[in-house]
Amino acid sequence: MADSSGAPVETVTVVGAGSMGHGIAQVFATNEYDVTLVDVDPDQLATATDRIAESLARLGEDPDTVMERLTTTTDQEDGLVGADLMVEAVPERIELKRDIFEAADRLLPPSAILATNTSTLPVTEMAEVTDHPERVVGMHFSNPVPLMEIVEVIRGEETSDEVLDTAVALSEAVGKTPVVVRKDVPGFILNRINYAFWSEALRVVDEGTHDFEAVDAANRRLGFPMGPFEVLDFAGIDVFYMVCEALQDRDVPVVISETHRDRVEADAYGMKSGRGFYDYPAPGEYSRVDIPMDRRYEYDPLQMIASAVNAAAWLLDEDVATKEAIDTSMEIGMNWPRGLFEFADEYGVDRIVDTLQRLYDETGREQYRPHDLLVEMVEEGRLGWATGEGFYDHDYDQETFGSVEYERQEFVAYVTFSRPEKRNAMDEGAWRGLRSALERAREDDAVRATVLRGSGGAFSAGDDIQEMLDWETVEEGKEFLSEVLLPAIEDLRTHPMPTISLVDGVATGAGCEMVLLSDMAVASSGSRFGQPEGKIGAFPPMWATYGVTNLGKKSVLELAMTSDLVTARKAEDIGLLNYVLDGDQATDVARELARSTTANAPGSNALIKSTWTGLEADLVDEWFEDAAEDLAEQLLSEEGRHGLAAFLNKETPRWER
Ligand code: NAD
Repeated sequence: MADSSGAPVETVTVVGAGSMGHGIAQVFATNEYDVTLVDVDPDQLATATDRIAESLARLGEDPDTVMERLTTTTDQEDGLVGADLMVEAVPERIELKRDIFEAADRLLPPSAILATNTSTLPVTEMAEVTDHPERVVGMHFSNPVPLMEIVEVIRGEETSDEVLDTAVALSEAVGKTPVVVRKDVPGFILNRINYAFWSEALRVVDEGTHDFEAVDAANRRLGFPMGPFEVLDFAGIDVFYMVCEALQDRDVPVVISETHRDRVEADAYGMKSGRGFYDYPAPGEYSRVDIPMDRRYEYDPLQMIASAVNAAAWLLDEDVATKEAIDTSMEIGMNWPRGLFEFADEYGVDRIVDTLQRLYDETGREQYRPHDLLVEMVEEGRLGWATGEGFYDHDYDQETFGSVEYERQEFVAYVTFSRPEKRNAMDEGAWRGLRSALERAREDDAVRATVLRGSGGAFSAGDDIQEMLDWETVEEGKEFLSEVLLPAIEDLRTHPMPTISLVDGVATGAGCEMVLLSDMAVASSGSRFGQPEGKIGAFPPMWATYGVTNLGKKSVLELAMTSDLVTARKAEDIGLLNYVLDGDQATDVARELARSTTANAPGSNALIKSTWTGLEADLVDEWFEDAAEDLAEQLLSEEGRHGLAAFLNKETPRWER
C-alpha cells in the first residue's frame, strides 16, 4: 500500500487507545502492519493491550504473532516519528485533534498520510493546522472495529486523490469495506442517515402515538436485525446524543427528542449502563431483547424509511456519495437487510414523497420537506418497482387482459381486477382475464408469488349479476360455470406459487370467495367481506364447499345464511385473513409476505401447495362441481329470477322479514 508519495505504507501509528483506537491498532497489526499505539494514559494502554489479546483469542488469531507487531507508548513524539500512516482516535474535541494533527504534520515525513477517525468533526478543520492539508483524510471506522466492516473514507476540502485512494486501499487491505464520502459534510453518510432514521422513531415515542417496542417490532419485521431502540441501547444512547448535538452545532436542522434527553439525563445509556430503553443483566452485559413481534404491524416503518431517504437524497444531490456508497453504508455499516434506495424503490418513490409531505405538514420539521430530487423522480414517473425504473432499474413486465391488469414487479406478479365502475364485478371477461394473468405469472420463472388486488377502492363485489340475468336456460348457466368460472377457480386454487389477496375495500360474493381460495390474505382495516348471494336467491358455491377446509362451520354458514357484511377484523377472527392493517400498510404487508415466501425453495412451495389443493380436491371437488350446477338451476328458478331482478332494481326481495 502506498503513502501519499507512492512509497509503501508499512508502519502505522494510532493515537488514542480507547474504544476505537485499540480496535484500529488491532486490525492493522492483524494485517501485518507494524503498529505503534499512543495514549497519554498508561492505564489505557495496558487496558488496550489486554482487550486486543482477548479479542484476538476470540477471533481465533494467534495473539503472540500479532502482539509482536504492536508497540505502545505514552510518548507521542516517539510514537509518531517514522510512521507512514497516522490514525487519530482521541476524544471528539476539535482543539485536541488539531493539536495532534499539528504535531503529526511536524513529526511525520511529508509522504505520510494523516487520518482522523472523527465521527462528527470536519476533517478540513484538522487539515487547516497542517502544512500539507492534501494528506489529511477521514477514516471513520465503526465500533467494534474488529467486527464492523465499514469505513467511511472522507475527503477533506484539500485531500488529494492519491491520499483518498490510498485510504480506500488501506481500508481494503485490513479487510474492511470502504465507502467514499466525497465532501466533508456534517455526519458524513452514516450519522446523517442514522439521525434521519432514528429521530423519526424517537418523535413518535415523544408524541405518544407509539411505544418503542412497537417501533422496534415494525423494523424487525422488515428484516432489520434490531429495531432502532435496540440499536441505540447497543451503540450508546449518549453517543447518539453527542452526534445530534454535533449536527446541530453545524447547522443541520436537528430536533433533539425529549425521550432521548430523558434517557441521557437519567444516565440510562443502554447496554453499557445496564438500562436504556430496555434492561440488561448488568452494565456492559448484553442480552438479546425480547421484542413483542405480535405488535409488528402497529407502527408503519415507511415513516422512518421516508425520513432516511430524504436525507440520502440530499447526500446524492450534493454529490457527497454515490447511491451505491450510500446503500453499502447502510447494509454493511448498519446491517440493514437492503440498501436505503432499494427500500425507496420497493415502497415507491411516490409513496416516500407522500409520506414526507404528510409528516412535514404535521410537524413542520425541515427534515421531512420532500427533497426536489425525489419530487422530480415522481414527476418523471421514476417510481421504482412500480414503473421498472427508480434509483435502480428493475425487472418489470406489464400486460392487460381485458379488465384484468397483469404487472410483474421484480419477483412479484400483481393481478389487478380493474372494472372500478362495477366495483370490479367478475364478468366473463374478468374470469378469462384472471386465467390469462395467472398463466402469465405461472410461465415466468422469475415470479415467486402472485398478489391479487382490485382497483378503485374495491377488491371485487362478486359475479356480474347483469350477465347472469341474461342466461336463458339452465344449460346456458351450466355451460358458463363449467367453461368460464370453474377453470378460473381451478387455476387460482392450483396456481403453483403462493397467492396473496390484498383487499382494500369490498370483497363480497365471488370476491370474498377468491380471498378464501388464496393462500394468504391481508386487508386494510376499512375493508368489508360477505357472501350475500342468498339474498338474491342464489348461493355461494366456493364458499359452501372450500369453506370446509378453511373456516369453521359456524362462520361459513353464518355469513352465507345471513348475507351480513363483516368487518376486516371479524374476517381475521374467523380465519379468512392473515392480517388487518391500518393506513396504507396492507399493500406493504402483501409485498412483505410475498418476499417472505421467497425464503422457501420454489419447488417446496409448489409441493406444499399441490398437497393442500390435492387434499381439498379429494374432499370437496365433486361437491363443488355439483354446487356449481345447483347454482345454475337455482339462478334460473323462480326464486333466482325474482332475487336477481330485485337486486338490479334496488328492490327488497319478497323473502326479507
Ligand atoms: P475513548 O474516550 O474511548 O478513547 C480516547 C482515548 O484517547 C483515551 O484512551 C484517551 O486517554 C486518549 N487520549 C486523550 N487525549 C490524548 C492525547 N492528547 N494523545 C493521545 N491519546 C489521548 O474514545 P473513542 O470512543 O475511542 O473515540 C475516539 C474517536 O473515535 C472520537 O473522535 C470518536 O468520535 C470516534 N468514534 C467513536 C466511535 C465509538 O462508537 N466510540 C465510533 C466511531 C468513531
